[in-house]
Amino acid sequence: MHTFQFIRPADQAAAISTASQSKTAQQGADVRFLGGGTTLIDLMKLNVETPSRVLDINRLPLDKIEATSDGGVKIGAMVRNSDLANHAKVQHDYSVLSQAILQGASAQIRNMATVGGNLLQRTRCVYFRDTAMACNKREPGSGCPAITGHNRTLAILGASDHCIATNPSDMCVALAALEATVQVQGPKGPRTVAFSDFHLLPGNTPNRETVLESGELITHVTLPPPTAGSKQLYLKLRDRASYEFALASAAVVLSIASGNITGARIALGGVGTKPWRSPEAEVALTGKPAREETFRQAAEAALRDAKPQSENKFKIELAKRCLVHALRTVTES
Ligand SMILES: Cc1cc2nc3c(=O)[nH]c(=O)nc-3n(C[C@H](O)[C@H](O)[C@H](O)COP(=O)(O)OP(=O)(O)OC[C@H]3O[C@@H](n4cnc5c(N)ncnc54)[C@H](O)[C@@H]3O)c2cc1C
Ligand code: SF4
Repeated sequence: MHTFQFIRPADQAAAISTASQSKTAQQGADVRFLGGGTTLIDLMKLNVETPSRVLDINRLPLDKIEATSDGGVKIGAMVRNSDLANHAKVQHDYSVLSQAILQGASAQIRNMATVGGNLLQRTRCVYFRDTAMACNKREPGSGCPAITGHNRTLAILGASDHCIATNPSDMCVALAALEATVQVQGPKGPRTVAFSDFHLLPGNTPNRETVLESGELITHVTLPPPTAGSKQLYLKLRDRASYEFALASAAVVLSIASGNITGARIALGGVGTKPWRSPEAEVALTGKPAREETFRQAAEAALRDAKPQSENKFKIELAKRCLVHALRTVTES
């Protein structure tokens, strides 16, 4: 039995206080905020998420995209994915973000999905979504059948002996490459989290996916000022051309002067247990000529620590080719 409650703008603090009574902000939370519902309601129908209270935050005034005084952008947590992807400044200055969102889900889902909800979308691992199966993420200590089972789509970077689930978000891969920050309001006040610190590796607590504590509400995501003249691309490889999650993807933000790469920010999707920023690829690119050999070296560096499972060895070469192709394409543009 679930209780649904609409949260009025004046009741934001009360909602945070109510949610802070939850034992956890993670899997198994008694109280959940409701954004677009495209993850949460799905999982409640499957009995994977069973909150006793659902706080509908759609009326909170967190639906603006605003320029910041330093030239960046502040995005409200309730901004719909479609509105963010189609915003003129985002398309112009942060095109990798617009491209990543538009390659995710379907138009209808993007119209509902919010920025805050996208940050917290759950893995598509089939065992996680089936309560008849064991799953350490859903029920800590119950086991991980994916390690010896169906793991074709699962992670090759950042996995542990307890969980090998992939983070499925496209938007988050672009946010990692753009060095976004996440603003959170909680019972102890506001705090800001660097995007690279927001999602956690599974380790031996795969049920804990982010640094959020009980009651913490994502209020905004902020992008730093754009790098002038940077070239940006999001390339997503998947089993079919639409309405499908990434097998491998690459978000690329490159600065090039006189044929040399002067700055690189690289993140990978579909292969990591979290949106996967690759400092190794960035080092391999920076200061080097923008040519095929450099791109291949960056891809080798990015996947050096990859550990395949029984069904997904192909992802190593796929992710390398994805990154090389993205770098080649963006350089030629
Ligand atoms: C069929 C299908 C295909 C999809 N394909 C893709 C794809 O290709 N690529 C991709 O990236 N995504 C894909 N998605 C996932 C989709 O992007 C997410 O479901 C969506 O972004 C979640 O946003 P939401 O607002 O609906 O979240 P909700 O379902 O409302 O919430 C998700 C979680 O976030 C929490 N939450 C929401 N807002 C806040 C907040 N402000 N503060 C704290 N907690 C909050 C909720 O409590 C819940 O736990 C797909 C989804 C479906 C159903
Ligand atoms: S990979 Fe993670 S989500 Fe999938 S079954 Fe194992 S523990 Fe559960």
